[in-house]
This record gives sequence, C-alpha cells and structure tokens, in this order.
Amino acid sequence: MKKEKQFVVIGLGRFGTSVARSLHRSGYQVLAVDINAERVQKFSDEVTHVVQADTTDEASLEALGIRNFDVAVVAIGDDIQANVLTTLLLKEMGVRYIVAKARNFLHGKMLKKIGADRVVHPEYDMGQRVAHNLVSTNVFDY
Ligand code: ATP
Repeated sequence: MKKEKQFVVIGLGRFGTSVARSLHRSGYQVLAVDINAERVQKFSDEVTHVVQADTTDEASLEALGIRNFDVAVVAIGDDIQANVLTTLLLKEMGVRYIVAKARNFLHGKMLKKIGADRVVHPEYDMGQRVAHNLVSTNVFDY
C-alpha cells in the first residue's frame, strides 16, 4: 500500500491555518506548529496534531520527529529570521519537500538559496491568479 504523505505546517497565521485546514479536509495527516500558545489552543480541534514549539530550535524540531515528514510548509511571516532559520533546519534535517512563504522577493531568493523547493508570495501569487481568472473566464457574461 502506498504511504500517505505526512505534512507539517509551521506558523498558524491566516496563511498557515488555511493551508493546514485544507490539507486536513482533503484527508491528510497534518501536524501544525506555532510558538504562540494562544494560537495553538485556538487551532487545537482543527487538524490531527497541534503543538507549541519554537521551530528555530533544533532540539524542538528533533523532538517533533520533523525529519520523518514528507512536506513542510513554513508559514511564518513577519519574522524573516525565524522563517529562514526554520527553513534551513528543515532542509538540513532532510525534510523532502519544503514550501516557504516569503515577505518579499529578496527574502524569496534567499529561501531558494538555502534549499526551499517552492517559495510562495501569497498576495502577489493571488493577485496574478485573480487577474488571470478575470481575463480567461467570461466574468462579464452574466
Ligand atoms: P498571516 O499573514 O498568515 O496572517 P500573521 O501576520 O498572523 O500571519 P506571522 O507573523 O506571519 O503572523 O506569523 C505566523 C505565525 O508564525 C504566528 O502565529 C507566529 O506565532 C508563528 N511563529 C513566529 N515565529 C515562530 C517560531 N520561531 N516558531 C514557530 N512559530 C512561529
């Protein structure tokens, strides 16, 4: 039997919670992690496991068994240092596929250099999708 992908989502802001919730609703096992106890508590019923941890701390990542995950989503936004350190540690630990959220294009470039497999710029990417959708469908046909 094919093994199901294991997902970890780090950072439970709007972006991270949306990703974690969608994966869970699609039937996948999701571990959600945030440094903030209140956010962890608020999200505790939503996915398979929710844990409070600082993901810039290598020992905490080890304790979570992070190296066994197939896909990690780094959804830490404001704190670029925490976002970059987390991505670097995940990469070094051997997480197979890392998606990281970038605040700006230089940040995105840095994430690529340290080994993120995919970099997302949520507002920019969504803007492009909306524009594409507006011109490729008959939105004026109502
Ligand atoms: P969004 O833009 O997605 O709504 P936000 O603005 O609410 O996010 P961000 O600063 O982008 O918040 O951070 C997202 C989450 O990442 C927060 O809930 C924050 O507690 C968490 N976070 C920040 N640093 C760490 C860390 N070192 N380890 C784990 N989680 C962290």
